[in-house]
Amino acid sequence: MKKISLMGATGSIGTQTLDVIREHPEEFKLTAFSVGKNIDGARKMIAEFNPLMVSVQLKEDADTLRKEVPSGVKILSGEEGLVQVACHQDSDILVNAVLGSVGLYPTLQAIEAGKIIAIANKETLVTAGHIVMEAAREKGVALLPVDSEHSAIFQALQGEKEKNIEKLIITASGGSFRDRTREDLAGVTVNEALNHPNWSMGAKITIDSASMMNKGLEVIEAHWLFDIPYDKIDVLQHRESIIHSMIQFHDTSVMAQLGTPDMRTPIQYALTYPDRLERAGAKRLDLAEIGKLHFEKMDLERFRCLRFAYEAGRTGGSMTTVLNAANEAAVSLFLDKKISFLGIEDLIERALDNHEVIQNPDLETIREIDRQTRLTVARWI
Ligand code: NDP
Ligand code: MG
Repeated sequence: MKKISLMGATGSIGTQTLDVIREHPEEFKLTAFSVGKNIDGARKMIAEFNPLMVSVQLKEDADTLRKEVPSGVKILSGEEGLVQVACHQDSDILVNAVLGSVGLYPTLQAIEAGKIIAIANKETLVTAGHIVMEAAREKGVALLPVDSEHSAIFQALQGEKEKNIEKLIITASGGSFRDRTREDLAGVTVNEALNHPNWSMGAKITIDSASMMNKGLEVIEAHWLFDIPYDKIDVLQHRESIIHSMIQFHDTSVMAQLGTPDMRTPIQYALTYPDRLERAGAKRLDLAEIGKLHFEKMDLERFRCLRFAYEAGRTGGSMTTVLNAANEAAVSLFLDKKISFLGIEDLIERALDNHEVIQNPDLETIREIDRQTRLTVARWI
């Protein structure tokens, strides 16, 4: 029985993690979880899973919830609550499915506490990959990818040696606007951007997919998870999202992992690694039914956010912290209808141009740069 702490339980990855736990009650037990502001969601999950600890974002929500739930359920709030959930003594694994760089500090604390980390929260790696990877190495803690592309690479890497990798090929569906020109993007609405052709995901990552920043964040995530230089990470447009990513080895062989677009498969693999569990009832891949797979070269001028991510990654240091914080701030302004879709990339570009890079920043510096970048971007509007 694996005991699980889950951060971001009410989100898209969070609820699909609960599906996996629900499907295998003999294998998994939910010990602790966190939500943001969805208190109704928390109530239902407490009733169903009977956890030992729950954390919510706001103190007032914690005070309300505490009065309602059985005394055996400890209710906490804020960053301290996230840390307590992440490090719960009765958990073996932390599934980090929270949104944004708020996941960084609790993840570092969980690594310190020796927990296995199943990481969906890519912003944490983009913000401070050098600190997270170093901490995991020092502690001998496994960092298992949940993101489908990184899970694909991780699966294709089993039994292989990293030194034999020639390059990683990360596939990209192209997002909601893949068939539009740059000129067509000027007036697109929030609802159009939220309409992803292949995946049903949280709002922020759906916008990131439309702007191609999601792929940019994933390139940086892959750089850290697999210790691969940026020159050896390619992005390939593949509209069907069937090949989740590939590794090309020195001997020219290419290993790919395929599957239906269903995040519960990579979530479950991170929870069962190095084993696998049956997914009864889940749709199997039927290639004869699909018939054709398509591939196209990525256009870095059409998708400027992807180019910004490569550039920030190559510059390194605090530049990716700024990339991520500016993107989080800009996407939230777009979702609030305060800026246009193309305004997202303009704000990110401006934030990157404005920043004097600091190489090898420590945690305090990172947190300060993250905070300042958000404030600066908000001030520009
Ligand atoms: P969602 O927006 O659906 O969910 C985010 C979760 O985080 C919710 O539980 C939300 O709580 C919680 N949350 C948000 N802000 C805070 C905060 N400040 N403090 C505490 N909790 C907070 O996101 P997704 O599930 O789509 O994505 C989660 C992460 O996984 C992201 O990093 C994303 O990039 C990554 N990912 C997602 C994929 C997907 O298919 N969705 C695929 C691959 C990676 P509440 O709703 O209660 O307010
Ligand atoms: Mg992905």
